[in-house]
Amino acid sequence: MTKKYAFISVFPEIFVPFSQSGIVKKAIDLGLIQIKSFNPRDFLNNKDRIDDKVYGGGPGMVFKSEPIQKCINHTKDTFSGSSKVIHLSASGETFTAQTARELSKEDSLIFLSSRYEGLDQRLIDAEVDKEISIGDYVLTGGEIPSMVLLEAIIRFIDGAVGDEESVKNDSFENALLEHPQYTRPEKNALGEVPETLLSGNHDQIEKWKRKHSLGKTFLRRQDLIRQHDLNQEDIDQIKEFLSDLGYESDRIAELLSIFDNEN
Ligand code: SAM
Repeated sequence: MTKKYAFISVFPEIFVPFSQSGIVKKAIDLGLIQIKSFNPRDFLNNKDRIDDKVYGGGPGMVFKSEPIQKCINHTKDTFSGSSKVIHLSASGETFTAQTARELSKEDSLIFLSSRYEGLDQRLIDAEVDKEISIGDYVLTGGEIPSMVLLEAIIRFIDGAVGDEESVKNDSFENALLEHPQYTRPEKNALGEVPETLLSGNHDQIEKWKRKHSLGKTFLRRQDLIRQHDLNQEDIDQIKEFLSDLGYESDRIAELLSIFDNEN
């Protein structure tokens, strides 16, 4: 069944090149997804503005409820269903691969982008199912975050990514970052491909990949590594990874002491 996605934005033209290239175009061409854009300005009475000043004072303008609500209703009617509405917002819950996977199960979604200081809260309370942020920084509009969400969601739709194995191996699956990747030639001016990867020994190769995933995640994302119930073999692999990088044993012991504190 074709999944239906809509972008609501005062700059719908932003989404045109997005839907004409890469995985999004491929998913559309395969009939896996359908994308539409709607402009809430089309739901304004002639001289109305889309925004107005903030009650209680403060800088900037806020999107008014009425045109956005009309636009949402029109979008839902177009999709003839009860699509969930996602408002992209810096104060929403932080987007993760897990959220993308869950949202990929929905038959239709509406991505609502606001601008200026955001949306009238009454509209959020009445019409928005989820507010999502793509990170702890502020952009000028929800359009780029909408595209970020949709692309991450599409990767979880069966048939959208050529090699489904590659999705399973991506960073954040199993809460680990992906190990480094190499391609031909085996040797070039920048260096050589690690010998183990050329060995043909499947067990050794898998061990190498896990060691590098664990080590990289340990150094870069302790929040992720702490989600793991690491066994002694995993900890030894992290030790080996750090030692390969030239860390002294005292420093390795100090770094690995985070696991002592947890036990
Ligand atoms: N006053 C808002 C605040 O402090 O949270 C920021 C408004 S921002 C200038 C305008 C719009 O950009 C927001 O309403 C939201 O739709 C979008 N936006 C900005 N940063 C975002 C983020 N990190 N994730 C998702 N959407 C974001």
